[in-house]
Amino acid sequence: MFLISLIFVGLGFTQSCLPPPSSLDLWVENFMKVSSCAPLKEAGDARIQDATANSSRSNDNRYTLRRHQNNLYEMSFNLNFIPDTGVTSPKDMMARVQSCLKAIPPIQGPQGQKLIFSAFSPTEASVELKGIVPPKIDIKLTNLDRGNANNFGDGFTCGHFTHELMHHAGLCDEYHESGYGIPDANRNDGWCRRIGPGDSLMSSGMVTAYDQTVGDIFSCDLSTDPNMKKLEGKTENEIRDISRRSFRTIGNFSMEDVGYISAVKVDNVKDVYCKRVAEKWIPFVPGTVGITLKSNTNERLTFTSRENYVTSTDKKVTTYEIEYDCDCSSREQSCYEYLNLARPQVLRASDPSIFVMDCPGSSKRIAPSNFSLEPGRVKMNGTVLDIRNQPGKRSLLYPGQFEKLLAGSCSEVKAQNYNKCSVYSYRHSTPSAVKNAIGHSCDSIPEECKSPQGWLGVLPTLTNP
Ligand SMILES: [Zn+2]
Repeated sequence: MFLISLIFVGLGFTQSCLPPPSSLDLWVENFMKVSSCAPLKEAGDARIQDATANSSRSNDNRYTLRRHQNNLYEMSFNLNFIPDTGVTSPKDMMARVQSCLKAIPPIQGPQGQKLIFSAFSPTEASVELKGIVPPKIDIKLTNLDRGNANNFGDGFTCGHFTHELMHHAGLCDEYHESGYGIPDANRNDGWCRRIGPGDSLMSSGMVTAYDQTVGDIFSCDLSTDPNMKKLEGKTENEIRDISRRSFRTIGNFSMEDVGYISAVKVDNVKDVYCKRVAEKWIPFVPGTVGITLKSNTNERLTFTSRENYVTSTDKKVTTYEIEYDCDCSSREQSCYEYLNLARPQVLRASDPSIFVMDCPGSSKRIAPSNFSLEPGRVKMNGTVLDIRNQPGKRSLLYPGQFEKLLAGSCSEVKAQNYNKCSVYSYRHSTPSAVKNAIGHSCDSIPEECKSPQGWLGVLPTLTNP
């Protein structure tokens, strides 16, 4: 007999990253919530979470969580895609999201738990998830580059989808929010947020996190670089080598990403923090990684980057080699935050044991169209090049994030540090907005929130993928 224990929590009430209740009303509501939030003890147990966020939060809790055999948990979302300014149809978007989630290996929890994600259309959810239907989440299909949890863009990658769905699973942002260079900390929207590691799915490294864990899946429109059409006829090995990732396509972050405050607008802080020490054309050498690391310390990263191009006159490949020095030894905090984001990307591209690629030459990256590619493979399809990177061995989520997902709205029982530290992550996390919301500003942040390890823990290595 299949035993289902359904627990409905706090409809319309935001518990996700709430601070401890301060009034008696809140205390009573909180007590009821905790007592109805027992953990899923055995296979077959399930819980529906339906807590919408208040308007100043980027997260809510809207999903079902089911426990299967062998400590495996499944979190399911019910996604209602609504056509808007985008060109992607609801059916295509659903297929894309489902493929991105399906490709994620079971996520490893701190106590040996495993977690997988699944997404359903409202029709599928009511048919396939009898009785335990996740609350419907309305998401507009837009042409926005950035988008958010309720507005998906045509160009979203698997990393974006997964990041946004994690907001519906209760996780908060861990990146600096748009300060747009305003030289005034009190008006910087991300000032109080606790910033995550550069390879965290909820930080500006969301695409890095997915790429490291699953191997990014994407396509390149070769027609946007006329020379790249000459890739036709080359072998798969040659195409993989030509497409190896260089520093050109990574390490590109905005002022807001690193909290760089300046009256002068800078498009890419790479140009501020990484000096080109030397550069020259060299012959293309097959089998060479895109980046060779020279030194890697807390405050400095030096390496050689190689970009490959096909010449216009013949099909010959040549390489442009650049020596970089990203030195933060005499610089401000935002330089370290730049290294926090760029470092995992650079290390990944310098790993000779895996194929890590990007669109070659100046061809344009487009939404993925081929989800059947094996990791590390590429495939030409007319003027479109499909690429699937090889993953490293890591779990998608940090232990603190994992605990938060399993704890759901029952915030005070588990994931204590996560809840304590993510309360600073409002959409507008200025010191005054945070003070209004939680009673104290970010000048009195608890000790455990001062470093990512304190509230997110240390990323586990996947031992049995
Ligand atoms: Zn976000």
